[in-house]
Amino acid sequence: MFDEEEVEKLRLAGRIASEVRRWAAGRVRPGKPLLELCEEVEGEIRRRGGEPAFPCNIDINEVGAHYTPPSGEQATIPENSIVKVDLGVHVEGYIADTAVSVCLSPEYEILRKAAEEALKAGIQAMRAGVRVSEVGFAIQKTIEGFGLKPIRNLTGHSIGRYLIHTGKHIPNVGGMDGLRVEEGELYAIEPFVTLRSAAGEVVGGPCGNIYRVSKRKLPKEREERRLMEEILERFSTLPFTSRWLKEASSQAFKELVRGKYVSCYPMLVERTGKPVAQAEHTVLVLKDGVEVLTE
Ligand code: MN
Ligand code: MN
Repeated sequence: MFDEEEVEKLRLAGRIASEVRRWAAGRVRPGKPLLELCEEVEGEIRRRGGEPAFPCNIDINEVGAHYTPPSGEQATIPENSIVKVDLGVHVEGYIADTAVSVCLSPEYEILRKAAEEALKAGIQAMRAGVRVSEVGFAIQKTIEGFGLKPIRNLTGHSIGRYLIHTGKHIPNVGGMDGLRVEEGELYAIEPFVTLRSAAGEVVGGPCGNIYRVSKRKLPKEREERRLMEEILERFSTLPFTSRWLKEASSQAFKELVRGKYVSCYPMLVERTGKPVAQAEHTVLVLKDGVEVLTE
């Protein structure tokens, strides 16, 4: 449970996340460098008094999640693509997580629309005591109503202070999960939609330049030790990217990865290569419904 003071911090994080999401959606256009967009998004979060809760994700076409450009990235947003911008904001560890899909070709509009409508349906179904599978069923039904398919192995998630995932899931499909949502919990709800002809699941791809601490220990070698201390101090339990570290420490960073002090999240890619849309809001669970923090 969050007390009133904590809820105010969540509301502030939510407001910043919402503003920056809208701002970012307007900046997505063909030829825009991915790195520039991500750095702008992270800059806008800080300018408004928040901190990025994780690196700005830009996931294009069949990539569902977990890509951020590394420093030196030259790639730009391709023409006729569908682009997901997923961003997180924290204020003293109180996190809001939100995402939007931008269609650079009219053929993807239906995917975007289905994701937005499914998110609304999921939010409608959320309240204290509801089974998570009921929320998943509402999301699935909405997506299938568009003649499309949810990604069944990507889910929403409970959120804690300085923790993006605290172990409970909001599925994007119905099922037998009897687990219930509780009053006072914080959740991200995030339907992912693909074509009916797709597998409807993601598989792990290469490293998407988003990392987390996987061993809370210090290596012996001096440079690596110094870098690991910095990582623990700055990011602790939150995801981060190598781009946020000094260029000079890149060799030491490679050693930390090799020694499994930090590990990379693989990109999550639709198994049959079909385009994916996403919509996401963070909500606080009330007795009879939710407060949407990232509206
Ligand atoms: Mn997200
Ligand atoms: Mn999320």
